[in-house]
Amino acid sequence: MKKRNNQKPARQFYKRLASIALLIFCCAILLNAFKARSLTASLSVLGRVSGMHSARTATVAQPEITVDLLTPNKYSRPQKALTQVNSIVIHYVGNAGSTATANRDYFENLRHTGTTSASSHFVVGIDGSIVQCVPLDEISYASNHRNRDTISIEVCHPDDSGKFSSDTIASLTKLVGWLLDVYDLEKDDVIRHYDVTGKVCPKYYVEHEDAWENLKQKFWDYYQKHK
Ligand SMILES: [Zn+2]
Repeated sequence: MKKRNNQKPARQFYKRLASIALLIFCCAILLNAFKARSLTASLSVLGRVSGMHSARTATVAQPEITVDLLTPNKYSRPQKALTQVNSIVIHYVGNAGSTATANRDYFENLRHTGTTSASSHFVVGIDGSIVQCVPLDEISYASNHRNRDTISIEVCHPDDSGKFSSDTIASLTKLVGWLLDVYDLEKDDVIRHYDVTGKVCPKYYVEHEDAWENLKQKFWDYYQKHK
């Protein structure tokens, strides 16, 4: 006997209603899965969640970042935990005309050559590209005794003056503005390598104090405008 044919219209209506509810439920699950995927993608830039003790979800948009992490090794990516971030340190690469990728690859190659210990979390190119080399929950080897509580940014430059290009400054501003928000930092928490050790780095912005003040103000204004 075909029971289905004997169902009353009301029962058929409820069955249909249940099917629609099931469909909506499945769509919601799928939608959440997609949301979780995009969240994981953005967290890959920040690093493992467990290591982000002082990081927070930023309101300022994250700039476009090419994540090209170094292979773990003792010369450039020792995988020591970075548990707090109190400053952002700006450097210049000191190799005029070199690209962000070339500088990233130099850090990568140290695992073979072992000539020195060096790396940075980010490298910003002359064309404005941003490459990430080290996760934000690990220390980089850039700022001496401040490696333990800072994020480092190496900046490329077209000539020996060490002055940054306008494309570089545009990307650097977005990157620093975003990091100021992630770590809830103040204007003067953006410092130069020079402020840590007295090294002439970033060269142009050590030799031109006014240019450094203007750059810091630019970072701060961007953050204030977009937070
Ligand atoms: Zn430096």
